[in-house]
Amino acid sequence: MQLDTITELLQIPGFKVTHMISSTESSREYLLEREEESASICSGCGKVHNTAVHSKGRVIVEDLPMSSKRVYLHVPKRKSVCLEDGSIRVEELEWIRGRFTRRFVEQVYRLTSITTNKEAGWFLGIDDETVYRIDKGMLEELSRQRHKLVSHASLLQGTAHSHQAQLLKM
Ligand SMILES: [Zn+2]
Repeated sequence: MQLDTITELLQIPGFKVTHMISSTESSREYLLEREEESASICSGCGKVHNTAVHSKGRVIVEDLPMSSKRVYLHVPKRKSVCLEDGSIRVEELEWIRGRFTRRFVEQVYRLTSITTNKEAGWFLGIDDETVYRIDKGMLEELSRQRHKLVSHASLLQGTAHSHQAQLLKM
C-alpha cells in the first residue's frame, strides 16, 4: 500500500507516514514525520513556549489494529525549555496517551465498561496491569474535563459508566 494511503487511513492531524519500518504476520510499524513545523505544547505546563527546540527524540505508540495486524507508530517528539520552571520538557501531542494513541485508549475504556480488565487485555494483547492503568488514566482525564466545562447531566452519565464498570468487574 502507498504510504499516502496509510497517512489517509491514520488521519493523524499534522503528521504523515514516511516509511514502513517493519511488517510481520502480526504487526506493522510506521515512521511518522510532521507535515510542517508547528508550535509545540509543553507537557510541563500545557502552554506553547516559543523557545528553541532543545533536542528531538522519538516515541513508539501503539495504535488501533489495521487488517488484524497490530500497528505501532514511531513519532517524533521535540524537547524544549519550559518557561514556567526552567526544566526541559518533552512536547505533548494531543492524540497520544503514554505508549498508546488516544483512540486506542478510548477503545480500552469502552471494552472495560463491558468486560474485565483481564479479558480486555487478552483481546488487545496487552497485560491487565496496563489495561488497569489506561482505564484509570482515562477516568481521571474524563473527570478533569467534567470539572472544567461539562454540565451536570454528563457528570451523572459518567458516574453511571464507571459504577457499571465497577459492578461488572466484581
Ligand atoms: Zn512549560
